[in-house]
Amino acid sequence: MGKSSKDKRDLYYRKAKEQGYRARSAFKLLQLNDEFHFLDDETNLKRVVDLCAAPGSWSQVLSRKMFTESKGNLDGKKIVAVDLQPMSPIENVTTLQADITHPETLSKILHLFGNEKADFVCSDGAPDVTGLHDLDEYVQQQLIMSALQLTTCILKKNGTFVAKIFRGRDIDMLYSQLGYLFEKVICAKPKSSRGTSLEAFIVCLGYNPPSNWEPKLDLNKSVEEFFSGCSLGRLKISDDNKLSNWKIEERDIAEFMSCGGLDSVDSDATYHFDEDDTSNVKKPALVSLDPIQSPTNPPYKKALELKRKGKLTRAV
Ligand code: SAM
Repeated sequence: MGKSSKDKRDLYYRKAKEQGYRARSAFKLLQLNDEFHFLDDETNLKRVVDLCAAPGSWSQVLSRKMFTESKGNLDGKKIVAVDLQPMSPIENVTTLQADITHPETLSKILHLFGNEKADFVCSDGAPDVTGLHDLDEYVQQQLIMSALQLTTCILKKNGTFVAKIFRGRDIDMLYSQLGYLFEKVICAKPKSSRGTSLEAFIVCLGYNPPSNWEPKLDLNKSVEEFFSGCSLGRLKISDDNKLSNWKIEERDIAEFMSCGGLDSVDSDATYHFDEDDTSNVKKPALVSLDPIQSPTNPPYKKALELKRKGKLTRAV
């Protein structure tokens, strides 16, 4: 598929290039913010963490909102972006190549914040998919739990946490767990997130952990051990360790909300640039645009080099 055909197939991909964003995901954060306004509080939004941030379109949104478009005082504002992959520099953003599941990453972020806590943490994390559905779902859940654990150690009281989730079988247990830590938990689906995908975002407002609970990251501790001492203990898996045996009252349904105005383009539609099209959707020009940022060190780089040299051959 060529660049211009992808422009037609996916208008958010095209719009990202037009507006200088490195990825179409920028619109997911923008549409979530249009609904919940968590990035609009000029005075209280000082320290922000973007977990799983590469190539960096969410960090670009954060930088524009907190610095470029800000009319207030910029003193003390800081954005830290963390990813396993290296990231090209973004103005006003400190990038950290690190694993969010490792406790050292927490120390590094805290150090960058001068040991102050964050007002906002977001995570758009996605592990490499294997194609084995159950395994992929499990690894994704683990990544969300890691992001949540790190967040509990770094987020200020009343702070906000936004994270990508996949609405799999046992997602109601995550909603329930989050309900113990935050005043309000909403499951939101921005229009720029494909309707055909299980992807959604949890917007957790008003961080309010139990006062007698001190979260502490430790590689040797399980998730259950990490949350023990917090009221989450009520969610212990029953004796025979089967998730299906969790009591019905321990599961929770989060409020579900679609975000993005009625004029937002449909992320599942293909747009044709017909002259006589009378729909309201603004058509991009027919010229195809280059991506804003090429991958810094993509996993397929070596394969491309081998192919160029004619050394990539399949064994017969
Ligand atoms: N929000 C990003 C943006 O707008 O450009 C896109 C994020 S991308 C969908 C998911 C990212 O999660 C990948 O860059 C991947 O390297 C990162 N990731 C996955 N596991 C991670 C981990 N354990 N620690 C840090 N980053 C991780």
